[in-house]
Amino acid sequence: MKITALELFHISIPFAKPYKLSRVYGTRYDAEAVILKVHTDKGIVGLGEADPLNPFSEETPATVMVVTRDHLAPQLMGQNPSHISAIESNLDVMVHGNLLARGAVNMALFDIVGKANDIPAHMLLGGLHQSKLKLLSPIGSGTPEEDAASIQQQIEDGYKTVMIKMGALPIADEIQRMIAAREKFIGRIKIIVDANQGWTVAETLEFFDGIGSSRPDLVEQPIDRHDISGLKRIHRRAPCLLSADEGVASVQEAAALIRAQAVDAFSIKVSKNGGLSKAIKIAATADAFGLKILMNSMLEFGITQAASLQLGCVLPNLLDMGHAYMSVLRMSDDITDFGQNISRGVVTVPSSAGLGVRLNEKKLKKYTKDYLKIE
Ligand SMILES: [Mg+2]
Repeated sequence: MKITALELFHISIPFAKPYKLSRVYGTRYDAEAVILKVHTDKGIVGLGEADPLNPFSEETPATVMVVTRDHLAPQLMGQNPSHISAIESNLDVMVHGNLLARGAVNMALFDIVGKANDIPAHMLLGGLHQSKLKLLSPIGSGTPEEDAASIQQQIEDGYKTVMIKMGALPIADEIQRMIAAREKFIGRIKIIVDANQGWTVAETLEFFDGIGSSRPDLVEQPIDRHDISGLKRIHRRAPCLLSADEGVASVQEAAALIRAQAVDAFSIKVSKNGGLSKAIKIAATADAFGLKILMNSMLEFGITQAASLQLGCVLPNLLDMGHAYMSVLRMSDDITDFGQNISRGVVTVPSSAGLGVRLNEKKLKKYTKDYLKIE
């Protein structure tokens, strides 16, 4: 089998409702992605997706398309897509960084190999560990009253974990939001606080002091992604688990965080981490050192979510919380059928071949604003 052509589709789909994030990321109205099709001479087409979110990621849809065309495609054309490990090693040498563009390619390779052998991709990643995963639901930045209404709705919809977005408001307000949410829903829901790098070390410690016993279950990436020593200081004082998200894109960054004993957990996002091969390496390294994994998501559509589910279902070291497989529910529409796996706060691993997701060609066409074919 040989890779014969690549197609790239830059898509943009509005959110179901605007999504308020930290002061670094602002309020978002549309989600953008690059959908990748990898064609083979056997007629099998592999699907991939890159989910750039500037400034979360340095990459943008435009860079994903250009890097794929100019740097990845020349290394892929004519190659046997089954040789995933060899392809990864070669691309590591030939293309520095660009993990999102790399991730789309890697997902597509697993999709092709799974489809060629009529097995789900998780069988290529070690086999099932759990066939169902609990979901978390994100809560955008708001007032304690808005938070309470959102959390109540999520509980009614079957969710057992919420991820409250902080980092956009003054720290005193965030303390009040945390205390209010914990007091109102005590024992009924797990709470992750994600500040998306919106705080300083001092603000994070002020938050911990201010909330008293109204602790979240986990705090994610409170400070700048490069500040490992700051995270380590926070870790020593944290009254709950601490995770890195923006700070753990590459396997090397994961190793540095482990060495510094800076966190308890990593947020894995298959697109951010450069695909399944690199993400599973991060998860396994974490496991060796006793760290846990939160399967998290960017603002993703169904292909990345499907790839992420193929990985999440094989991992032995997931956090006992909900995981982020609800991304397509935040969108006004999706270009895949991934949403059918979700019901009442739980996602079920599909048994179909490859990534286990189908593309809706009509919708892909409708939402495509830029297109590139490489042969
Ligand atoms: Mg995060």
